[in-house]
Amino acid sequence: MRLALAVHGGAGRADPELAAAQAEGLERAARRGMERLCSGGAALDAVVEAVACLEDDENFNAGYGSVLTSEGTVEMDASVMDGQSLAAGAVGAVAGVRHPVRLALEILRRTPHILIAGPSARRLAEAWGLELCPPEALVAPRQRQRFEDRAESRSAGTVGAVALDGQGHVAAATSTGGVSGKLPGRVGDSAVIGAGTYADDSAGAVSATGCGEAIIKAALSKSLCELLHGGIAPERAAAIAIGEFARRLAGEAGLIAVDRFGRIGYAANAAHMS
Ligand code: ASP
Repeated sequence: MRLALAVHGGAGRADPELAAAQAEGLERAARRGMERLCSGGAALDAVVEAVACLEDDENFNAGYGSVLTSEGTVEMDASVMDGQSLAAGAVGAVAGVRHPVRLALEILRRTPHILIAGPSARRLAEAWGLELCPPEALVAPRQRQRFEDRAESRSAGTVGAVALDGQGHVAAATSTGGVSGKLPGRVGDSAVIGAGTYADDSAGAVSATGCGEAIIKAALSKSLCELLHGGIAPERAAAIAIGEFARRLAGEAGLIAVDRFGRIGYAANAAHMS
C-alpha cells in the first residue's frame, strides 16, 4: 500500500524573511508525520503529529506564533477528521492550549460532539492533561510587533496536513490563529468540518487555508472531496475547486489534497502558498 502525506503553511501574502524558515519547518513537520506512517501509524495520528510540530514553530500562524485579535490576544481554531469513520473533532477560539490540534483529536475521541469553543475547550484540555500555558505565552514577538504596527495584510501561516496510511485510510488536520485583528470569539473555517478540513476514505482528505468566511460559504474542503469522489485526480480537482471558489466569492484560498490512491494535489488563488 502506498503511503502519502502533504503539509501546508498557509496561503496569503509571502514574507520573504520567513521563506527559508518556513520551508525548513514544513519539511520537519512532513518528516514527523511520515515517520508515523512508515512505522505503521494511522493517517489520523500522522496529520496530528505534523500539525502539532508546526504549532510549535513561531514562523507559522498556529499555536505559538498565532496572529492577534483586535484586543491583542491569541485565540486559535483547529480541526481533525478521520476518513475511515468520518469522525471529527474541532476547537474554536481557544486560548492557552499549546497544541489545539491535539485537543481537537481528544474531542473526536472522547466526546459525542464535534466542535467545542472558548474557555470550555480549555477546561477540557486541562481535565485531559493536555499541555496548557498562560494565554500570553503564545504571543510571539513578531506578532506583537505586527499588532503594534497595525499590519493590515493577511499573511500566510495557517497550517494543515493530509495523509493516506498503510491501511488505506485518509485523514486531514488544520490549525490556525485565524485572521489578524479578528473580533474575539470569531471562529473561522479551520474549526469547521467541510470548510477548512474534510476526509472521507471513499474520496480523499483536504485541508484549506485563506479567507475563512469565504471558505465556509463554499464548503470548500467538502467540495473538493466530492470531485475526488468522482475520480478526478487531486491536482486537477484542486484547481477546479479553487476556480469555482474564485468565480463565486471574493477572497483568497488554498487547498492541499490526497486521494485514496495516494495522489497529491494543491491549488491556490493567493499570491503565495507554502
Ligand atoms: N483560514 C484561516 C481563517 O480564516 C486563516 C488562514 O488560513 O490564513 O481563520
